[in-house]
Amino acid sequence: MRILVTGGAGFIGSALVRHLVKNVGAEVLNVDKLTYAGNLASLKEIEGASNYQFLQADICDLQKMSEAMTSFKPDRIMHLAAESHVDRSISGAADFVQTNVMGTFSLLEAARHYWNDLSPARKEAFRFLHVSTDEVYGSLGDEGLFEEVTPYDPSSPYSASKAASDHLAIAWHRTYGLPVVVSNCSNNYGPYHFPEKLIPLIILNAMDGKPLPVYGEGVNIRDWLYVEDHARALDLIASRGRLGEKYNVGGRNERKNIDVVKRICSLMDELRPKATPHADLITYVTDRPGHDARYAIDATKLETELGWKAEENFDSGIERTVRWYLDNEWWWQPLREGVYSGERLGVLKKG
Ligand code: NAD
Repeated sequence: MRILVTGGAGFIGSALVRHLVKNVGAEVLNVDKLTYAGNLASLKEIEGASNYQFLQADICDLQKMSEAMTSFKPDRIMHLAAESHVDRSISGAADFVQTNVMGTFSLLEAARHYWNDLSPARKEAFRFLHVSTDEVYGSLGDEGLFEEVTPYDPSSPYSASKAASDHLAIAWHRTYGLPVVVSNCSNNYGPYHFPEKLIPLIILNAMDGKPLPVYGEGVNIRDWLYVEDHARALDLIASRGRLGEKYNVGGRNERKNIDVVKRICSLMDELRPKATPHADLITYVTDRPGHDARYAIDATKLETELGWKAEENFDSGIERTVRWYLDNEWWWQPLREGVYSGERLGVLKKG
């Protein structure tokens, strides 16, 4: 099986590439532009593997994407490359529209022409998986879950650009017959998560005795999934998902943001004790505009049709994650010192 992965140097993409190269034994071509979020250090453990190749390229470059496909000859494309950070989309939406919408368009067009020229047997077996987010559905009230049929209602420039790309992917199936499947996943966490995202930010700030910024009153609810569970789900959906269908992915792990932060604080109290409890560092900051109240995924379709189940529960997964950050300063320290300077949170600069 030859798999072209886009965005394989990012958080989820690198977990997927490690899984495909080490556990599945697939031949993988990782196509990534290496933006601030792309980091080849996340792929250190498969560096030099004979079934892994890397190509630095922009998915918006249709010609390069076509060349990559005709020379690598993938049986499957798994598309994860995206601008992914909601706060960055609020302060500068242009890159999100460019990569998430136009980039997905270029990739779909390149894939359509490549697929059209395949032999009938390879054409039949080919799959294009478009990887997306539950944020396309907007916000839930206290009750209910996102289902595959929930209408799209995105709130942020990020989720709006992902919603647009989902529609393009499904349209390329309905109009041109391209064998597309779409996945919509809840919030991921785990090792190699860029330090500006909530969970690593809290761990690293707690380690440094810096303020632990929490938006609003911390009552927003997210449904957390360990990143390796997501990687397994993506492989299953790409292999056996029904064409033209969407599959929701989620771990049934709803948590209020403040409870996630407090759980990290108590783990840090155990693993890196200091004179005062880490929770004393919690600092409430002005809420994000358009901040969705609650996300929660109904993953029944994926569980019953494809037999997937999340293996990591939140309590053990968050402990594994905290321990990973404590043990892997070599990975996150250069990111903290370099591109990422905490610009997202005024409180860090003031504090
Ligand atoms: P990430 O920001 O960590 O990684 C994105 C990767 O895409 C980076 O390696 C970056 O260099 C690359 N990239 C960006 N623009 C590119 C371009 N124009 N051409 C080629 N490569 C480019 O993102 P992530 O958190 O790993 O998310 C991966 C995918 O999963 C995204 O499509 C995202 O929408 C989706 N998703 C993320 C989550 C989550 O919790 N992080 C949840 C559900 C779905």
